[in-house]
Amino acid sequence: MGTGGSISGLRSSKRSFVSRQPPHVSFEFFPPKTPAGWDKLKETAAHLAEFEPDFTSVTFGAGGSGNFRTLEACLAVRSVLAADVVPHLSCIGQTRDSIEAHLAEFRDAGFTRILALRGDVPIDAESAEISFPQGGFHYASELVSFIKSRGNFHILVGCYPEGHPEAPSLQTDIDNFIRKVEAGADAAITQYFFNNAGYFHFVDEVRRRGLDIPIVVGLMPIWPYEQVVRFSAKCGADVPLWIQKRMEGYKDDPESQFEFAVEVAVTQSEELLRNGAPGVHFYTLNRPEATVRICENLRGQKIERGPASDDVAYGDVEVPASLS
Ligand code: FAD
Repeated sequence: MGTGGSISGLRSSKRSFVSRQPPHVSFEFFPPKTPAGWDKLKETAAHLAEFEPDFTSVTFGAGGSGNFRTLEACLAVRSVLAADVVPHLSCIGQTRDSIEAHLAEFRDAGFTRILALRGDVPIDAESAEISFPQGGFHYASELVSFIKSRGNFHILVGCYPEGHPEAPSLQTDIDNFIRKVEAGADAAITQYFFNNAGYFHFVDEVRRRGLDIPIVVGLMPIWPYEQVVRFSAKCGADVPLWIQKRMEGYKDDPESQFEFAVEVAVTQSEELLRNGAPGVHFYTLNRPEATVRICENLRGQKIERGPASDDVAYGDVEVPASLS
């Protein structure tokens, strides 16, 4: 099934999302801001190529960065790593015309899988309430419907096994996740988490409610520790006390912090993959060190994939004739 992941393979008339042996991994990058950052991006992607990822992805304006050089970064990654690249596209603060223009650029460059997101909404300084910009879309489900109406894209969305920080409850957030799937999402990638039980409960709940799309695990190695703790406070990811205590115990020993972060991520990934997660998507922060060590460990363990891990579930996508 599918292609072996070569660039020429990407141009066959129909291709499948994954085709390689386990463990199934994928990598997220972000568009850099400096010339040195662009070198680092390519270096990191080239370094990770040996793990034959199912796909890679590139963020879009993440964390309110205003950095929209996603297409350029997708092309940079594709120039050194022969796997499908999935551009992210967020809708907050964008007009329909600008979304349409981004979609056309992605399609023309041969990127037909899109990770459709809302993006973070600015908080009103006075009321401390979130305030939606005028026009455009408010929620990712609206963006999914729009992309669906614009042709044959394979659409991924984000999901939150521990609940999105704005949602009043996990149940409400699951209802809202289901809206995105009903609007046409084909697969999902989770926010990162350190408690696997939350992922398994989330998947059980959405399966019980009739959804069968693949739910790929987003995994953030907890390194550099302080940086990840700061992110976690913002995005609502729970850092378990036992991890905090171990990391704080290694405060003056960065090497042990790194080794512990690798150990936590390997154990976590192994349990997820053995129990049905279709793949692990690493938030690399454009740094190869931790992700390389984790993938080396996983590869060494010859993980059998669990029963729910069906390649076919990722789906096939037609490539526009102009690219074949
Ligand atoms: P939505 O699905 O729209 O949900 C946002 C909130 O609104 C949730 O609380 C939800 O419960 C609620 N909601 C949804 N629909 C409704 C409705 N109809 N009525 C009321 N409430 C509703 N951000 C970036 O800016 N760029 C990126 O590249 C990026 N990449 C990401 C990749 C992944 C895998 C993930 C998980 C997140 C990423 N983010 C990125 C962050 C994301 O944009 C934020 O988490 C954002 O706050 C929510 O985006 P969403 O697409 O999940 O939004």
